[in-house]
Amino acid sequence: MSEKFDVIVVGAGPAGSACALTCAKNGLNVLLIERGEYPGAKNVMGGVLYRKQMEELVPEFWKEAPLERPVIEQRFWMMDKESVVQFGYKGLEWGMEPYNNFTVLRAQFDQWFAKKAVEAGALLINETVVTECIVENGKVVGIRTDRPNGEVYADVVVLADGVNSLLSKQLGFHKEFRPDEVALTVMEVINLPKEKINDRFNLEDNQGCTIEIFGDSTKGNLGTAFVYTNKESLNIGVGTTLSSMIKAKIKPYELLDYLKTHPMVKPMLAGGESAEYLAHLIPEGGYRSVPKVAGNGVIVVGDAAQLVNAIHREGSNMAMSSGKMAAEAVVKAHKSGDFSESSLNSYREALNSSFIMKDLEKYKDAAHTFEKYPQYFNEYVPMMNKAMSKFFTVDGTPKREKQKQIMKSVTSERGTIRVLQDIYRAWKAVK
Ligand code: FAD
Repeated sequence: MSEKFDVIVVGAGPAGSACALTCAKNGLNVLLIERGEYPGAKNVMGGVLYRKQMEELVPEFWKEAPLERPVIEQRFWMMDKESVVQFGYKGLEWGMEPYNNFTVLRAQFDQWFAKKAVEAGALLINETVVTECIVENGKVVGIRTDRPNGEVYADVVVLADGVNSLLSKQLGFHKEFRPDEVALTVMEVINLPKEKINDRFNLEDNQGCTIEIFGDSTKGNLGTAFVYTNKESLNIGVGTTLSSMIKAKIKPYELLDYLKTHPMVKPMLAGGESAEYLAHLIPEGGYRSVPKVAGNGVIVVGDAAQLVNAIHREGSNMAMSSGKMAAEAVVKAHKSGDFSESSLNSYREALNSSFIMKDLEKYKDAAHTFEKYPQYFNEYVPMMNKAMSKFFTVDGTPKREKQKQIMKSVTSERGTIRVLQDIYRAWKAVK
């Protein structure tokens, strides 16, 4: 391997395949390298794939991609020990073209997506680990792999190697994570017959439901749990920031065991058989953790660039969009023959003016606020549950009196000033 390519993309996840596909469609000579036995073999995601960003890469992909169910309902649970306050949205329009989002199993989806890049002309090599970037005179000129004589050269190397991007760390783009910048999530795929899923979630065959669970699902720590419906399985997972885990001395698998036996969750899983158990990091540092994303001859995309909006559990779409934007910058550089940092910085500019950096900027203080002030998860969620229980219990108390009692119990538990401060702080963090 000492051939020269126009572009080498490291990692065949959503970011890498999107980049390779777009470069190949534009006539570039592309090498896509994946360490797994096949794309997706090592990849983990709760499972919601967003239509809009995928459609920009493969129009009407839903007609051919291995998808599980179109999501027609999103539920949010504020869960206490033996109760839950819920809200959400269910709309049949999401079950029809052009859809909103889908559940997917990454092992299947990533293989299909990488195949689209190959069909467009990219060369995919699996089971090959990129061990380092080759840097000459301050410019990345290629990569070294774990294969014998495994050096390959290119005008541009795109790092799509995921959250713990050793390659961008090696280039000095990344520092080591702080424990509050990453979440550790564990998830299980539980096989369950289609009919049971449809009955339990009130769905038809080609309809899906997602549930995001806050509060007792993480034992009151900053984080979330989820249950997503596939065709014949459920994805269930839970994660918190590493800093929360360290502080609370909890282990991720303990949280998952706790969640699976929680009285609000257990009936959904009854009779299911565990098919897979997975753990993965999620970059949750947001806006302030985004590293340098372009250098001489190199671009960083997707999770490797920390592009995840944890509040809205959007990561795969940011990965795909950033991969596409990176490809557009590479195509532009190819036309001008200029692969310097200032030329490739057109990618950073595209990122800045896209929904990606705008959304990350909007929530730049959210994770920090909710971690520093854990009362949102460990005090307000139980309070909401108590309030709803009281309000909906028919015991002859006039409703206005009930409202007063609820307000009184909230303000006496936390104090009026602190409640007002908490509301203002939360509003500021997500406004
Ligand atoms: P990855 O998907 O991590 O892909 C990186 C690829 O690079 C992998 O294939 C890996 O094998 C390969 N690689 C790494 N190093 C090397 C190397 N040195 N040499 C060769 N290959 C290498 N996002 C959503 O949009 N919706 C969700 O519901 C959702 N739920 C999630 C739930 C969990 C539990 C987790 C962990 C994440 C979730 N995300 C979700 C986030 C989403 O998975 C990521 O944002 C997305 O996968 C990022 O894509 P990527 O291509 O940047 O990185």
